Amino acid sequence: MQDSFMRDSLMQDGLMQKSVSPSGLVDRFGRGVNYLRVSITDRCDFRCVYCMAEDMRFLPRSEVLSLEEIAFVCRAFVELGVEKIRITGGEPLVRQGVLSLLQQVGALPGLRELTMTTNGSQLPRMAADVRAAGVRRLNISLDTLNPAKFKAMTRTGDIEQVLMGINAARAAGFERIKLNAVILKGFNHDEAADLVGFAVERDLDISFIEEMPLGEVSGHDRELCFYPSQRIREDLQGRFSLTPTEESSGGPSRYYRVEGARTRVGFISPHSENFCASCNRVRLTVAGRLLLCLGNEDSVDLKALLREYPGDMPRLKQALIDAMVLKPERHQFNIYEQPVIFRHMSMTGG
Ligand code: SAM
Ligand code: SF4
Repeated sequence: MQDSFMRDSLMQDGLMQKSVSPSGLVDRFGRGVNYLRVSITDRCDFRCVYCMAEDMRFLPRSEVLSLEEIAFVCRAFVELGVEKIRITGGEPLVRQGVLSLLQQVGALPGLRELTMTTNGSQLPRMAADVRAAGVRRLNISLDTLNPAKFKAMTRTGDIEQVLMGINAARAAGFERIKLNAVILKGFNHDEAADLVGFAVERDLDISFIEEMPLGEVSGHDRELCFYPSQRIREDLQGRFSLTPTEESSGGPSRYYRVEGARTRVGFISPHSENFCASCNRVRLTVAGRLLLCLGNEDSVDLKALLREYPGDMPRLKQALIDAMVLKPERHQFNIYEQPVIFRHMSMTGG
């Protein structure tokens, strides 16, 4: 009784100690899959240098899953024990109909948490609706506080719009908001302490992410721009006292508490601190591929199945169960080589 009370209150806080999943989806390495990330569009109003090429070609509508198909796959996963779904993209808030999808998915019995990752640009007008549609926790990407650097990193973004979006999200009453910052040496590596200060002042969490070699990008060299999490922690030491914590938000972040604040600082370190042993996630790409690992190409074409057998829930569920044997032990990211993964992050969803 006490245990379930503790578990529930940590879940409400968005933080739970790493635990064994009650999901029926288990891979060859005994890892339970209880977390699905869904990219609902490959389109975006930004062109972040680490995520997209400057000149991107987007998928034609016929190759993108419909919102009904996405909702159907989410239902199958939740009925198989998935407890957490993150809606992402591309920029999820530029897809028409996103709010009704959120409502549908958020209402699935058994789903404990619906979350979203957004670049924040549409939040000034949409934050309240996203909250009302059932999203409890929100991740907002913010790599820099400097308007010129923001423009350089996003190519097309307007920092004022995103800052207004963060304010709108704070006013909308999300249980927790976390900032995501991809740190690139030579772009924004000197800003980690200012970003943590920004988060502390607003009672937000923040995660720093090492760039992953997904898709070909132009304009920077991933090897030269690599800035490991340990260096960021050293940079923060002068201004903040960080204490490691075993708390987890169910994703790959390793967290530290900031003394004197509620803020948690997370590090997503695919290169320097491998997190694959505790991986509990799979992803649905915008083109309907079920991807078993962000850093491998093992996948199942769910779009073909959905279109050949529309509405066939038992067949879909069996395909999801069968897919678990394809989940590899660990990712294959290597910043010292040209990308081995040719898909951009926007296809897959971060
Ligand atoms: N457009 C939304 C956003 O930017 O928050 C959601 C999609 S974006 C692909 C999700 C997350 O992936 C963002 O926090 C972004 O910074 C991160 N991301 C994109 N490309 C990345 C890469 N190559 N390596 C590491 N993180 C990346
Ligand atoms: Fe768009 Fe997000 Fe990719 Fe930036 S990281 S280009 S905001 S999808």
